[in-house]
This record gives sequence, structure tokens and C-alpha cells, in this order.
Amino acid sequence: MDFALSREQEDIIKAAREFAQGEFPDRAQEFDRNESFDLDLWRKACELGFVGVFIDEEFDGAGYGFFEHCLIAEEFWAVDPGIGQAILSTTFGSELIGLFGSEDQKGLILPRLVAGETIMGTAITEPDAGCDVTAAATTAVREGDEWVINGSKMFATNGNLAHYMLVFCLTDPENPSPHRRHSFILVPTDAPGYQSTKIRGKMGIRASDTAEIALNQVRVPALNLVGREGDGFHELMAFFNRTRLHICAQAVGLARAALEESVRHVRQRRQFGASVASFQVTRFKIAEMATRIRAARNLYYEAAWAVDQGKIDHGLIAMAKWYCAEMAVRCADEAVQMHGGYGYIDEYRVQRLYRDAKILEIYEGTKEMEKVIVSKAVLG
Ligand SMILES: Cc1cc2nc3c(=O)[nH]c(=O)nc-3n(C[C@H](O)[C@H](O)[C@H](O)COP(=O)(O)OP(=O)(O)OC[C@H]3O[C@@H](n4cnc5c(N)ncnc54)[C@H](O)[C@@H]3O)c2cc1C
Repeated sequence: MDFALSREQEDIIKAAREFAQGEFPDRAQEFDRNESFDLDLWRKACELGFVGVFIDEEFDGAGYGFFEHCLIAEEFWAVDPGIGQAILSTTFGSELIGLFGSEDQKGLILPRLVAGETIMGTAITEPDAGCDVTAAATTAVREGDEWVINGSKMFATNGNLAHYMLVFCLTDPENPSPHRRHSFILVPTDAPGYQSTKIRGKMGIRASDTAEIALNQVRVPALNLVGREGDGFHELMAFFNRTRLHICAQAVGLARAALEESVRHVRQRRQFGASVASFQVTRFKIAEMATRIRAARNLYYEAAWAVDQGKIDHGLIAMAKWYCAEMAVRCADEAVQMHGGYGYIDEYRVQRLYRDAKILEIYEGTKEMEKVIVSKAVLG
């Protein structure tokens, strides 16, 4: 495998970095403190072509691989995770539509996501169905030419902002296989019976919207089924095989920021008449962070590259997801430690990074669930 980035990929990184460095720092603290976001920033990112780069050219995307999407995510998160998430999660679910949607569904949604006209999200988690997605109990019942949906979803990213929500529904509760009972259905959020409530008080990525959703007798056309009826679980796994790589890139970006801040601080800070950077314990922390970041990046590059070649390796993707996430949490922790008391205050960026990091070990597969997959790949 050749890890060398192409000239085009280098240019994408440079452009994403310049955009993020120019636009994010002045607003990051405000969005974090107020749990808010300015959608003009998302529109600007769309205008400049950073959103949905993996979408086919036929649907106005750049037609790049998922790898290029990851490169952008890494740069955005290296400047501010909350804003990076708010912007790039607006296409969350388009991967599934791209893989399994009908031509009409693709034509309706994908060009608008790229143009900054539409936001989407994907609602799988429920109050009583987290890691065990097969326990999802939101029902979709076929009545004539419509699906009638009832239930509730938890922690849906963009639940209050999205124009469309891709909802994981129980469509065949009697099927003997728990992996054949669910289907994805596209729900316009202005449909009567769709109600979202903002979840406040998140630890991190507070610029990103998160909602609880109630679906009460929501009626959508039968044609809004995405993929095949009863195949939702398998479609979800295929979807996660892409989106988990996005989380890896987020983790590497965040860890880079933690390292940069740490290097800056320990070089400036003096104790015992010497630079904190001169103490061996500090130097080793920096060495370990730099090494872990490099190892994590190589792991996700390999996994993302393979996915874009059509070589899906669940074990490798799961390895990359838990390793990158845990690495980022560790780096953020060390960064706060090296800042001493200053790292505990929100004026210092490392405090935000520390809070932003934790979600990486939770969403789109907790680190424990990723290790379940890896151990299955190794032990059978
Ligand atoms: C900010 C944020 C954004 C999110 N965005 C979305 C979104 O857009 N769409 C969506 O559908 N969901 C979203 N989620 C939900 C997220 O994916 C879930 O929180 C996650 O899957 C875990 O589910 P849970 O919280 O119910 O935890 P639980 O499933 O209750 O797990 C609790 C603990 O038990 C462990 N555990 C559970 N089962 C096992 C097992 N078999 N072996 C070992 N350990 C196990 C878990 O690893 C975890 O540590 C989001 C969550 C947050 C916080």
C-alpha cells in the first residue's frame, strides 16, 4: 500500500486548514459557552466545497473518496472540534443514501447537502437501545402507500436543524433474526408528528446540535424507504464502516491540537528556574503524544484507503476507531496535565479539547463495542 498523499490531497489539506484557521478560532469559545452555532459558517464551508466531498459528481459532489472527507475532518478538528462537527455532520446519513438510496432519493438530497441548502441526520439510538441497535423499538407500519412511524430517538445529531432525518425503524418485529427486523426510512422533519427537543448540557462538541426526537403517527410515502426492507441492520454496519473513519480523523485532529498547545505551553512556562519543556517527564509526554498521533493516523489512513478501494475490513476499521479515540482522550488528558491549573480553565483551549475528546469513545460505536469486533476478528 502506498501512503503517499497526492498533490490534490495535499491541496485539500492546505485549503481545509486555512479555512478552519481563518474562521474558527474567534467563534469557538462563544459557541462552546452558549451551545450555539452560526449556520453561515456551514454555508461558507459548503460554498468552498468542503462539505460532502465524497458525494458523486453526478449529484454535485466532488466525487472524492471517503479518505478526502477524513482529511478535511482532521484539519477542522485540529482547529476546533465543536465547529468541525457542526459543519461536517450536516451530511450524516448521506453515505447510506449514496450506498443504498434510490436514484430519486439521491437526486432529492445529495445536491442540496453539497450546496448548503439541506442538513440531515441519522437517528438510530433510542432511550432503551444504545449499543444494542437491534433493540430499537420505533415502529414503522405500512398503511397503503405510506409508512406510519411511532417511537422516540435519543441523542440525534442535528435533530433540531435537519430537514431530513434518516430513521432506523422496526418494520418486521416477528422476523426470527434480530438482524432482519429493521429498515431505514427518510423522514422530512416538517412532517406532522415529528418533534425534536434540544439536549443541553453536553460535556463537549457543544457547537453541534443534539436532540431527543418524538415520532407520533408520522406519515411518510412508502417510497421513503431507503435500501431494502428488513436490511437496515446490515446497511447500518456498512454505513458505520465509513462514518467510523470520520471519527478517527476527528480524533487525530483533536490530538494534534492538544500536542500543539502543549508544546507551546511547556516551552513558555518556567518552574524551578527552568523551562517545563526541559524536564524529562514532560519531554516523554510530548514524545508519547507525537508517536501515538502518528500511529493512529497511519491506522486510519490504511483503513480509509482500503474502504475507498472497496476492501472492507471490519476488524481494521474497529481497531482504528477505538485506538484513535482512546489516543485522543489520552492526549487531551496529558495536555491539561502539562498546563497545570491553567488547563482547568475554559480560557485555555486544552480545557475544551479535554471535554470535546470524550465523545470520540462513545458515539458511532463505544470503544468497548469496537473491541468486541476486533476480538471477534482475531479470535473468531
Ligand atoms: C453528542 C452525541 C451525539 C450522538 N449522535 C448520535 C446520532 O446522530 N445518531 C444516533 O443514532 N446516536 C447518536 N448518539 C448516540 C451514541 O451513538 C450512543 O450514546 C452510543 O451508541 C452508546 O449508546 P448508549 O448511550 O445507550 O450506551 P449503552 O448502550 O447503554 O452503553 C453503556 C455502557 O455499556 C457498555 N456496553 C454495552 N453493551 C456492551 C457489551 N455487549 N459489551 C461491552 N460493553 C458494553 C458500553 O460500551 C458503554 O460503556 C450520540 C451520542 C452523543 C452523546
